[in-house]
Amino acid sequence: MKTSTKDYDYLIVGAGLFGAVFAYLQSQKGKKCLVIDKRDHIGGNIYCEEIEGINVHKYGPHIFHTDKKYIWDFVNSLVEFNHFRYTPLAYYKGEYYNLPFNMHTFYQMWGAATPMEAKQIINEQVEKFGCEVPGNLEEQALSLVGKDLYQKLIKGYTEKQWGMDATHVPAFIIKRIPLRFIYDNNYFDDPYQGIPIGGYNKLINKLLDGIDVRLNVEFLENKSYFELIADKILYTGCIDEFYGFTYGQLDYRSLRFETTLHECSNYQGNAAVNYTDREIPYTRIIEHKHFEFGNQENTVITKEFSTDFTKKDNEPFYPINDHKNNEVYNKYRALSEQQSKYIFGGRLGSYKYFDMDDTIEAAMQLDMELEKKLTKEICNL
Ligand code: FAD
Repeated sequence: MKTSTKDYDYLIVGAGLFGAVFAYLQSQKGKKCLVIDKRDHIGGNIYCEEIEGINVHKYGPHIFHTDKKYIWDFVNSLVEFNHFRYTPLAYYKGEYYNLPFNMHTFYQMWGAATPMEAKQIINEQVEKFGCEVPGNLEEQALSLVGKDLYQKLIKGYTEKQWGMDATHVPAFIIKRIPLRFIYDNNYFDDPYQGIPIGGYNKLINKLLDGIDVRLNVEFLENKSYFELIADKILYTGCIDEFYGFTYGQLDYRSLRFETTLHECSNYQGNAAVNYTDREIPYTRIIEHKHFEFGNQENTVITKEFSTDFTKKDNEPFYPINDHKNNEVYNKYRALSEQQSKYIFGGRLGSYKYFDMDDTIEAAMQLDMELEKKLTKEICNL
């Protein structure tokens, strides 16, 4: 049941997870939605490209994890998840270490087999560094975990991620470094984890089933047309771009991916290996088949390089929420609050990094807020 006099109740710009969940929830209520995307596929950054039967996480590896049972129940009502657990390894100058930092790591690093031994070594190193007010990321990390873990497993990786020396990265980037004094390589603490069986496209296809979708369409080039055909517009693209960069460009870190097919069934024996020395230019290698316990004949790996975001030739991946950028974003948000036809959401519209569960939750919250607003309007008639 369409409630608008226009063709659509909602135009949703962006067929990523936020746009797809919102479209799904609104369609369930009988609203007519059109979803558009400038890319040639749906799914946004969780899209998987199939290569030789392997679901390749084209925009970086995605592991679903949450502590919110209702979000887990929601996604499981749409697709089935496997029991994948993210247990990355770190490679440093010929040595392998388990991540996140746990008893396996401490044993590999120092031969410390008990929590007491490991704690003692870390405490000694932290005390030796003796810094009370860390002024940069290096000092912050040294005062949290001591020199060995920092030098071998944090420094080079972080410097590649940020494209600068760790002494130039602000201390607030690392608030805490979890240390686990048990033998447990499961990266996430969340009780619900996994990968959709058959890949993330199944989840997005299910969400957008029966909803009008148009691909290869840049909204900003066809703005007046879309404003005419829809009552309301949800915009999940970059908010600064929407406003023509009036207050300047918001900064992001980006990634470059080198994906290759290998004629062997198992390249590295694990979904992810982080390269923590600075000399190796990439930050990690992902072997995609391991997300779904694949037994294909060949394998596909992706080397991930951290880069600056230049807008022209790469994607905005990680917002840099420092003081300067947050101030600029707040100005854009203030502008957006004056436009009743538009709603901004998703990671680019809100200039905020969201894990997938938080993205779904935010889309659900938006759906509920609109519902409440509508009920209030009807009551006031
Ligand atoms: P997006 O997926 O970016 O979708 C936005 C869509 O809008 C895009 O398809 C874009 O093409 C389209 N668009 C933008 N502007 C326009 C326009 N003007 N016209 C038309 N279309 C437009 N989360 C986890 O929970 N676990 C993980 O392991 C994990 N790994 C990640 C790894 C990386 C490298 C990154 C960057 C993120 C990761 N995330 C992970 C977060 C996850 O990707 C996000 O939560 C989710 O993709 C956000 O969805 P979205 O719809 O907000 O944005």
